[in-house]
Amino acid sequence: MISIIVPCYNEQEALPLFHKEATRILQEIGEEYELLFVNDGSKDETLKELKALSAKDSHVIYLSFSRNFGKEAAMYAGFCNAKGDYIAVMDADLQDPPALLPEMLKILKTGEYDSVATRRVSREGEPIIRSWFARRFYSIMNRISESDIVDGARDFRLMKKSMVEAIVAMGEYNRFSKGLFGWVGFRTYWMPYENVERVAGETKWNFWKLFKYAIDGIINFSHVPLSIASWFGTTMTFFSFLALAVIIIRRLIFGDPVAGWASIICVVIFIGGIQLLCLGIMGQYISKTYLETKHRPHFIIAETNDESAIKLK
Ligand code: UDP
Ligand code: MG
Repeated sequence: MISIIVPCYNEQEALPLFHKEATRILQEIGEEYELLFVNDGSKDETLKELKALSAKDSHVIYLSFSRNFGKEAAMYAGFCNAKGDYIAVMDADLQDPPALLPEMLKILKTGEYDSVATRRVSREGEPIIRSWFARRFYSIMNRISESDIVDGARDFRLMKKSMVEAIVAMGEYNRFSKGLFGWVGFRTYWMPYENVERVAGETKWNFWKLFKYAIDGIINFSHVPLSIASWFGTTMTFFSFLALAVIIIRRLIFGDPVAGWASIICVVIFIGGIQLLCLGIMGQYISKTYLETKHRPHFIIAETNDESAIKLK
């Protein structure tokens, strides 16, 4: 059985198109399947649309959140409730082409791989600045994080149940799926494809949201920013010893002319700035730790047509 998890946030226009296309491909494959839609607190008619689809098609299961919890939570809810032996995550906007599924399934069935992941080789149709920042993010991330994160990687991937179980077991609150997929390991086949633009509706990510997501990703999967603080500290201490020596020697040779107000202010501002920056970095980690220790549920399902669904986790 194949489970397709589809996080949906304000996707009323895209849903019928997605359902039609995905159904066509899955029927072609000919295996048993379920379409697991997760309504992430949409403010439009997404839930109504899902109910209509589930009335027409018994393959459709919907899990509807009590509010917007974010795509990561929607994916987690999907992983917790998927019944398939092969489990995929796909966007509702057809940016993850269902047409790739048969090929992906074939690769998994050879038994050589546990997961088939997709990556975009082009970023056509995307603002240039966004692509530039995305590329910087991946290069920085790969330099400073222990789990490898592939440039252009999508969340779209087909996995065996064993891998999904591992991901479900990682119950951390601050989730960054691209990192989690890498962290659990398993043999992954990377399938490249050309970027596709969304069929209907609008993207939910503005630049600022993506930027924050990138920072979250770095903090969740790397401790390097923390060591930056100690590096600054060590270098500063070293230079301060040098400066001390210079000042003392100069005092002994030339006496004590009162001067250097400008340089003192520069040093004070510089060190003050660095100290605040380091405090800020530590603050980021502490706030993450604080959230983790509260053990709040990742999602709350208010409504579903699957009686056995895990409603809260
Ligand atoms: N999404 C979600 N919750 C959110 C934001 C987005 O479930 O808070 C879903 C959205 O409905 C879509 C997928 O995540 O199926 C990807 O979002 P989008 O297409 O807006 O992102 P993009 O492809 O532009 O990066
Ligand atoms: Mg999209």
